[in-house]
Amino acid sequence: MRISLAVLGCKISQYDAARLEERLRQAGAEIIPPSSASQAFLLCGCAVTERAAREAGQVARRLQRLNSVAPLYYYGCIGAYFANQPKHAAAGYQAATGYQARQAPGRVSYQACCFPPGRETALLEALGLSSPTPVSSGRSWRRTRGLVKVQDGCSHFCTYCIVPHLRGPAKSRPIREIEGEVADLLYRGFREVVLSGVHLSSWGHDLGGYTLIDLLHCLDRLPGLDRLRLSSLEPMDLSPQTMASFRTIEHLCPHFHLPLQSGSDSILQRMGRGYDRAQFLRLVEATRAAWPDVALTTDIMIGFPGESEQDFQATLATIEAVSFTRLHLFRYSPRPGTPAASMTGPLDEKEKRRRLERLRTLAETLPTRFRRRFLGRSFPVLVERIRESQASGFTPNYIHLTFPAYPGLLVGQLVEVKVSEEEPDA
Ligand code: SF4
Repeated sequence: MRISLAVLGCKISQYDAARLEERLRQAGAEIIPPSSASQAFLLCGCAVTERAAREAGQVARRLQRLNSVAPLYYYGCIGAYFANQPKHAAAGYQAATGYQARQAPGRVSYQACCFPPGRETALLEALGLSSPTPVSSGRSWRRTRGLVKVQDGCSHFCTYCIVPHLRGPAKSRPIREIEGEVADLLYRGFREVVLSGVHLSSWGHDLGGYTLIDLLHCLDRLPGLDRLRLSSLEPMDLSPQTMASFRTIEHLCPHFHLPLQSGSDSILQRMGRGYDRAQFLRLVEATRAAWPDVALTTDIMIGFPGESEQDFQATLATIEAVSFTRLHLFRYSPRPGTPAASMTGPLDEKEKRRRLERLRTLAETLPTRFRRRFLGRSFPVLVERIRESQASGFTPNYIHLTFPAYPGLLVGQLVEVKVSEEEPDA
């Protein structure tokens, strides 16, 4: 069976898609680029914002134009989202129980079905395939960096967020299972492992008292590991002591993504984030005390209902106070069924765009500012690429360095490189 798999969205979607792809291959499917020869289309994607869901719909329509009789399967957050939307349910989408014909009025007929995250087996069955759960998967970057999802779901329910509704409560993978997957990646030659999760900082809370530190200590001892990185860490589960104790993990990179969302206490409270500005700054202070060279990146949400100019200014001031290395900017969009969707004080789109532009201007300066602090210093770089006598890779604090390759240099090697000139960060 020839199957085309389109992937949109975050690291979690990429991980889910990689795992699904591995199982499809094990079951004998041939994965091909989308074309008229595709016998089924799978779309693995994100629905965290309205824009992401809209994009997934657009991609789906493009796929269906390539072959209107091939069934389309939505998988992951987008599967859960579409399955639960009344207009999709009425049109014949069906959640996780096989697929169902959908007739577009007056147009060609096609078939589609929605599978929420974790329903890989049901999806394979709908395709008439079966395969055991993969021993390992993980999206990889150039054979040096592997991604491992250590938990899924979230039990926090920030007032704007649809993720807990789509992916369910926080569920940690057992420590031995993760250890096995990481050991397999190392055996296959990966040198760096990135741990990710929907709510990574809560890992272990549902496993009888384990914490993320326990998991990191366990992985830190595995032979062949050079680097461990963490994807996004939600601040509400962290304390200054936790941030400081990360320093005891030998291979952990000083590079943390701590989503601030807003620098205004009243907006943070309306968002239900579970921390205020002062608590966030204490986390930053403890992290910097442990790792003076740490790179801190963040997510900022613009235009949450009720965000005044004063609130926005508080966000700008907090960004400056923390001195982030990089910002990921999102415009608030109401997600049906969340408390924020019915909150008073929605901002008009023009004002959201103005604030977004202001933040973009600031964001553009941050990577260069950070990099300049290290000019002339040397760092270990894990070589990820060698091309046309140039090698490149990242420092532990995620500065991208390009340097002349020399005979015998190999991808996956750790070498000392001086930060000597400006170059765009990758
Ligand atoms: S912590 Fe908040 S923003 Fe993050 S996934 Fe959970 S509900 Fe969503």
